[in-house]
Amino acid sequence: MIVKSADFVCSNTQVSKLPPAVKPEYAFIGRSNVGKSSLINMLVDKKGLAKTSQTPGKTQLINHFLINDNWYLVDLPGYGYARISKSKKEDWNKFIRTYLDKRESLQTVFVLIDSRLEPQKIDLEFCNWLGEKGLSFALIFTKADKQSRVKTDQNVSAFKKALLTTFEDIPTIFITSAELQTGREEVLNFVGSINNN
Ligand code: GDP
Repeated sequence: MIVKSADFVCSNTQVSKLPPAVKPEYAFIGRSNVGKSSLINMLVDKKGLAKTSQTPGKTQLINHFLINDNWYLVDLPGYGYARISKSKKEDWNKFIRTYLDKRESLQTVFVLIDSRLEPQKIDLEFCNWLGEKGLSFALIFTKADKQSRVKTDQNVSAFKKALLTTFEDIPTIFITSAELQTGREEVLNFVGSINNN
């Protein structure tokens, strides 16, 4: 897929104020600092579109970007901030889970995983929750330039193995680097293939 246009549409703190669910929607989510903003900017080839390195605990926003006047790329707030209060974490949970659970136009959730790390409980729990809700998701292993391919593959394999304790099938997996622009075509073509069905 060629990205001809990518425009910021709106930021929301309330699910009730989202744009009408009339276009296919693809959400991006992961632990804070996983490289989500960098990945989004790489995908749409616009450096400043998603804000990188947001401060933990800042207002939690759902950001909608319209791509090619055709589909929404949705930037969801990161999870797993170590330093935010319990009540803020609960707010996050409610806000995001309501969005994910209720958004009719949502096609796929891209769950971003830091490729440098062994499987993290919080990521596995999140995938399991998506599975319980019957939501389609794909995994994007980020920052692959940071270590050898062998190390990345080891972490990806370990994550798959952990998923197989609760899932029968492994979701589609992408390995990306915003630094080297790796995986860009693959992720965009995946979106394109769903949109054309
Ligand atoms: P977010 O909090 O998930 O939106 O993460 P950011 O996109 O702000 O990235 C967090 C940090 O990781 C920043 O310092 C980025 O420059 C860095 N980063 C993100 N993606 C990559 C990548 O693919 N390769 C490398 N080497 N660094 C990355």
